[in-house]
Amino acid sequence: MDDAHALVAAAGRIVVLTGAGISTDSGIPDFRGPQGVWTKDPAAQRSSDIRHYVADPEVRRQVWRTRMASPAWTAQPNPGHLAIVDLERQSPSGSRSGEHSRLHTLVTQNIDGLHQRAGSDPALVVELHGTMRQIQCLSCGERSAAETVYERVRAGDDDPSCLSCGGILKSATVSFGQQLVAADLERAWQAAAACNLLLAVGSSLTVSPANALVDVAAAAGAPVVIVNAEPTPYDDLAAAVVRRPISEVLPALVR
Ligand code: NAD
Repeated sequence: MDDAHALVAAAGRIVVLTGAGISTDSGIPDFRGPQGVWTKDPAAQRSSDIRHYVADPEVRRQVWRTRMASPAWTAQPNPGHLAIVDLERQSPSGSRSGEHSRLHTLVTQNIDGLHQRAGSDPALVVELHGTMRQIQCLSCGERSAAETVYERVRAGDDDPSCLSCGGILKSATVSFGQQLVAADLERAWQAAAACNLLLAVGSSLTVSPANALVDVAAAAGAPVVIVNAEPTPYDDLAAAVVRRPISEVLPALVR
């Protein structure tokens, strides 16, 4: 913890990479942690694959039902999310107050929108895996607020289609088998290459290409600090690893 704190304190251009683990203390389960959705029910992974989603209306019906019942709709940010807002408000030493933020970019794999709810500047957030708060047509690309589609589902349309073109609707998230938005990936890549510290929080660092941001930062000479309850494949590469609860560690780390 002392090493991690010293590294964070010394860095003026920090990229934070977050994963599902930062939101578990807000009541949203992760996928691969001990209480994770896939740890408890490995078959649930099937519904996260775009091929099954497109091919099977029953998968879509189940996904709409599950998503509507997600704790993420009512979840509140926790001290981990708020610590990143604190970091954003700090200026690098030597710069005039308010001139820059020590937080260069916040790259998240999360789809829950809790960073923005906590007060993170949306302009600094890259949602690498999209957002559950919007719905997108897989054919014409039209987007709408999630609530408008969930109203249709609640009214009995259990596999709603696009009102403009009849295409399949899906939350604006990136499922397995789908491409990431190229501009988002490029921005995250550039940020990792330009940072002087990468702080990876609450991610098993097993999902590609998000985990490759750690390689990019390390290759550019930036120290990597990992905060995660369980070991990750990147622990050996990290300058410091803190295996403690995020909502305790992060506020202390940015203080
Ligand atoms: P993951 O489930 O693979 O790994 C989460 C990691 O966080 C685990 O290693 C776990 O031990 C750790 N963790 C959980 N709670 C913690 C806590 N309170 N303190 C410290 N460590 C904790 O998550 P991932 O690497 O983000 O990959 C999963 C994918 O699932 C992502 O692509 C993401 O889009 C998606 N997902 C998102 C959400 C969300 O938006 N909240 C929730 C579940 C899954």
